[in-house]
Amino acid sequence: MAAKNSIPRLAVFPQTAEVNKKGNLAIGGCDTIALAEEYGTPLYVFDEADIRNRCREFKEEFTKRYPGTIVSYSPKAFTARAMFKLVAEEGLDLDVVSGGELAFALASGFAAKKIHFAGNNKSGEELELALREGIGHIVVDNLPELNMLIKIAGRKKVDILLRLNPGIDPHTHQYNKTGIADSKFGLPKADWDEAVQTALAADNLNVDGLHFHVGSGLFEYEPYLKSLDEVLAYAAAIRQKYGFRMNLLSIGGGFGAQYTVDAVPPPVASFAGAIIERLTTRCRELKLETPKLMIEPGRKIVAQAGVALYTVGVIKNIPGIRTYVSVDGGMGDNIRQPMYGAVQEALVANRPAAKDTRTVTISGKYCEAGDVLIKEIKLPELKAGDILAIAGSGAYCVPMSSNYNAAFRPAIVFMKDGRARLIRRRETLEDLTRRDPD
Ligand SMILES: *Cc1c(COP(=O)(O)O)cnc(C)c1O
Repeated sequence: MAAKNSIPRLAVFPQTAEVNKKGNLAIGGCDTIALAEEYGTPLYVFDEADIRNRCREFKEEFTKRYPGTIVSYSPKAFTARAMFKLVAEEGLDLDVVSGGELAFALASGFAAKKIHFAGNNKSGEELELALREGIGHIVVDNLPELNMLIKIAGRKKVDILLRLNPGIDPHTHQYNKTGIADSKFGLPKADWDEAVQTALAADNLNVDGLHFHVGSGLFEYEPYLKSLDEVLAYAAAIRQKYGFRMNLLSIGGGFGAQYTVDAVPPPVASFAGAIIERLTTRCRELKLETPKLMIEPGRKIVAQAGVALYTVGVIKNIPGIRTYVSVDGGMGDNIRQPMYGAVQEALVANRPAAKDTRTVTISGKYCEAGDVLIKEIKLPELKAGDILAIAGSGAYCVPMSSNYNAAFRPAIVFMKDGRARLIRRRETLEDLTRRDPD
């Protein structure tokens, strides 16, 4: 077995990734080439141990510094029945953003009380479903939603969090900023007072606390600290003004994952250390009771655990310009490069230890010029039939997948201790046609 340091890129692959005796990339003790043969490509494979370790890392690093911290997984990063079950086994809560995610979680047996519902444009039906099922919290995003909720709740008492937009820049891609002032998410500062007054005055609402979410893929903890400053100062102000007691504070998700060898995010421990230090210091200074804390990681829990396997097809070399290596997937299963300019690493799964020789572009098979998986990467000489493994494919790929070009969305496999289990079969023509009348 090759040591990790002989193949630097293995560092961004799942924790159990290694080169096996056959010289192939193995994950969770399973040979990825054998999996590609059995299930076909594109195939999404997940290292179950990696996901569980990340769940535990969040739980441990936060609770050892701040007992009772609730870790609430954000399933929009990766939604699957097997994932809901895993998350429940690990004792995490869920932070859903739609009625669909809520219904999917409930249908997978997830406890309603441990589900919290965020989202900027919830419908009446979505709120009704949440109330009927008795979920943990509605994270109220805006004034119209607040007023609608008060009407819908009737004589029920509903636990809510108010989502404040603290107006802080997380220094991530434009599309990954949610807590800047110019954002569709959260109550703008100008609405904070009205929201608090309205919510506190409503007999059928219990304002359990406050919520913010600054963005996604953060490599710095400063934006969390600045947001804490804003929100805690406000909590102290409304404590004085209305005697409001903040029982729970959610600081959202956004913890950055490692996608490339060189860009290494701070470990969870560093985020936890800095956040808890600021939270406790400010609460002391402001004479606030320390609230119960909730965090909502999505990306960081699954990003590195997931690898996408593709078969290399046409290779087009345009002398002096570029070499396009097209694979049998693309934007239909992973739209992150065109959408966010995301950068991911890859290995040739059937010879991961081979020397890199040529810079190429990994393109997909969809009819869009922007259908690119990796803009530029140095890889060994490739030939049709090679299996390309793209790391960092666990978050925001499968849930954003589409049937563009009538593609069948890929199968998904979980691996652990040398065993692979299919957690979602590949789509078929039946899946594509069954909603259309003859
Ligand atoms: C998307 C989202 C998260 C998760 O963000 P990650 O970057 O995946 O950790 C958490 N909370 C809310 C409200 C979200 O919308």
